[in-house]
Amino acid sequence: MSSRGERGRTHRDEPVYAPESLSEALQIFRRRPSLQVWAGGTWWSRFADRDDTEGILSLHAVRELRRVVKSDIQAEVGAAVPVERLYLAGRRFLPRLMTEGLHLVGSPPLRNIATIGGALCIPGTVLPITACLQILDTRVELRRQGNGRWVALSQFRDASGAVRINQGEIMTRLRVPLYSWTHRMLRSYGMPFPAGQESLTVIGLASLDKTGISEFRFVLVIDGTVQIRIREAEMDLVGRSVPLTEREQRSILNALESNPYYGSELNDLGRWRAAQGLREFMQKLG
Ligand SMILES: Cc1cc2nc3c(=O)[nH]c(=O)nc-3n(C[C@H](O)[C@H](O)[C@H](O)COP(=O)(O)OP(=O)(O)OC[C@H]3O[C@@H](n4cnc5c(N)ncnc54)[C@H](O)[C@@H]3O)c2cc1C
Repeated sequence: MSSRGERGRTHRDEPVYAPESLSEALQIFRRRPSLQVWAGGTWWSRFADRDDTEGILSLHAVRELRRVVKSDIQAEVGAAVPVERLYLAGRRFLPRLMTEGLHLVGSPPLRNIATIGGALCIPGTVLPITACLQILDTRVELRRQGNGRWVALSQFRDASGAVRINQGEIMTRLRVPLYSWTHRMLRSYGMPFPAGQESLTVIGLASLDKTGISEFRFVLVIDGTVQIRIREAEMDLVGRSVPLTEREQRSILNALESNPYYGSELNDLGRWRAAQGLREFMQKLG
């Protein structure tokens, strides 16, 4: 017998819920917190044979999660907006680093189905787009019935890569600041998905003003899991004029090379790509 809100059954006879509003989705999830949340379902498709599910909560029809709203200072993006649609809707106003990151989310057919929220919530995997959004200071909203909270995307995973989402919570929106960065770099080597294969993402982001460097950020994602960010060295560059001297460049390269993961998680080629990427990015500034 079907229960309230149910829209169908899987081939194994588990219930499938496909609510059309957020309040309906949150209500269903409160009643049945062990449902699997599906957005585009592309990640789940890899586990089609698993039989431990108690049913599916599909977000694809939830209106509120499919909106993109722009203001002067930020873009607010529903978590169930498909990646390709987000790219097309936002390519004129989203930070270029973000639109370039969206293009790295697999092939065009995959991007038509995969959602931005799904990309951010994949267990144990930091995709290039996730690292791009983190470095852009994106915040995400997590809601359950009766309350919601905003967290910095950079705080959304613990050290093991697991997402910090409580039972009954859904990611509903992202807020991406529309700050105009003057310099960016995004390089992706190998296959970032699934995690654990040899891959490397190198991201640089900076802004210059009349006096010199006003912002500088650099991040590496190794094999889709380990992240390196050299915050203290980044801060040291703020206020410096460009071009950076050889000594200044050496000091930030030293900070990267002395990170324990740089030595333990990268092979020779990865280390060369990371250091070369950082050096080229610093030289690009002026
Ligand atoms: C064949 C293949 C190739 C791929 N190649 C690449 C690639 O080259 N580069 C790349 O970056 N990625 C790649 N991917 C990964 C792809 O980016 C992800 O599968 C996709 O982004 C997940 O989005 P989705 O909407 O389909 O998520 P789903 O599969 O629906 O869900 C993914 C996870 O997120 C959770 N989730 C989804 N939405 C929410 C929400 N709103 N709130 C809470 N939890 C949620 C789900 O419960 C699940 O745990 C590939 C995937 C496949 C299958």
